[in-house]
Amino acid sequence: MNLLSASAAELGRLIATREVSSVEVTRAHLDQIAAVDTCIHAFLAIDATGALRQAAATDARIAAGEQLGPLAGVPIAIKDLLCYQALPTTAGSRILEGWVPPYNSTVVQRLIAAGLVLIGKTNCDEFAMGSSTETSGYGPTHNPWDTARIPGGSGGGSAAAVAACETPLAIGTDTGGSIRQPAAVTGSVGVKPTYGMVSRYGIIAMASSLDQAGPVARTTLDAALLHTVIAGHDPMDSTSLTTPVPDVVTAARLGDVRGLRIGLVREFSGEGYAPGVELRVQQAIAALLTAGAEVVEVSCPHFIHALATYYLIMPAEVSSNLARYDGMRYGLRIGDDGTNSTETVTRLTRGKGFGTEAKRRIILGTYALSAGYYDAYYGSAQKMRTLIARDFATAFERCDVLVSPATPTTAFKLGERIDDPLAMYMSDLCTIPANLAGIGAASFPCGLAPEDGLPVGFQVMAPALRDERLYQVGAALERELTAKWGSQLLAQAPALTDTKVVW
Ligand code: GLN
Repeated sequence: MNLLSASAAELGRLIATREVSSVEVTRAHLDQIAAVDTCIHAFLAIDATGALRQAAATDARIAAGEQLGPLAGVPIAIKDLLCYQALPTTAGSRILEGWVPPYNSTVVQRLIAAGLVLIGKTNCDEFAMGSSTETSGYGPTHNPWDTARIPGGSGGGSAAAVAACETPLAIGTDTGGSIRQPAAVTGSVGVKPTYGMVSRYGIIAMASSLDQAGPVARTTLDAALLHTVIAGHDPMDSTSLTTPVPDVVTAARLGDVRGLRIGLVREFSGEGYAPGVELRVQQAIAALLTAGAEVVEVSCPHFIHALATYYLIMPAEVSSNLARYDGMRYGLRIGDDGTNSTETVTRLTRGKGFGTEAKRRIILGTYALSAGYYDAYYGSAQKMRTLIARDFATAFERCDVLVSPATPTTAFKLGERIDDPLAMYMSDLCTIPANLAGIGAASFPCGLAPEDGLPVGFQVMAPALRDERLYQVGAALERELTAKWGSQLLAQAPALTDTKVVW
């Protein structure tokens, strides 16, 4: 039994039946991190001692006969945007270097309560702004499929850690695609639940009306099990939903798409889309037809404005949320020598602590919200947001889910887009509409592009609160493609690990 390539569901079962201990599983993953993370750089902080202590505690509870959840004893990595008292939380920014939060985020509390083993914090773009992890103040993460390439962003660390078998599970956050785009380019499963399904309490805010945390995993079932652990109402988050969490685990176990009406979004194809991406998406659709789904083409005419809309609403919220990093309350403080004014300390701290992309977005957002421009920019963007949500509503009258590529291309080279913000922003073309409408969406692996041998992600979007449909489709796709191609097509980069990932 290879403990690194096993699914989280399988590991949880083996730990519960005491065939392996959580300590053994945790140690195997810590060893893998020690072996490969020098070339991947998925982690910003590792808590080996704490993780082994948690693992031993879970083993003891199981030995004492306690019935724990299906993921008890399974290791997990956390994006460095989530507050966790045991380790620093930096959001990938130098302005928070070394800051240790005084409390745990709700997601972290729920993971601990379910007996998962928190092994470390994963790298991300600064304050989750980026599509490549290159804006991280601590250096980029490398894609395990080809270390010269980006692992996606902002949650590239979480996706790369899962793809490199450093952990079976990770938590990401998604404001415009930061769970799905990294999952797509690393061949992982990434799910952004419906807005409000997972508590934002204790998660460093980027754009509060768009932010949502969710699971990253190697199988659909693993993601569903993790979804169930972290989702559900939380009085500490004012936008938390009170509705029950859908039964995503049963949906993932059954993967039944017979009679399901799937709408292929016409706007997400053609110019700018890599041929290998289009090919694999077409094949994924064919596989779903084989599994009994019906497929129609749909048009969502306002989606072409989603990127522009997002780049007004998101920076507007960013400029407000990042005002709290003033050199007084958290982390870095520069120039506090007793002679400088508060304003000078704040200016020096922000000037040094924030990277270029954070500054760019603060300035864009401040401009978009300024008197005289507010209606023209922010106001228009809010109207367009409504039109995009209506496009979804109209499409969902005809279809149960919508599908598209998760990203227009496979992983690009590190350095290729970092000096061209617009090219970087284009990576999120397909993922942003779901955030603007607040609906759930996911990326599932659908094979490797023939031209470069790199993973392609298949995006599924479901109406709000119907997240189980994402898992229904993901599980069906996983089953059909594995039957057709076997698992070799998604084998892990052999240079890094001798494991074969069976997804
Ligand atoms: N890549 C997008 C951005 O740069 C999305 C980020 C995210 O989802 N956190 O804004």
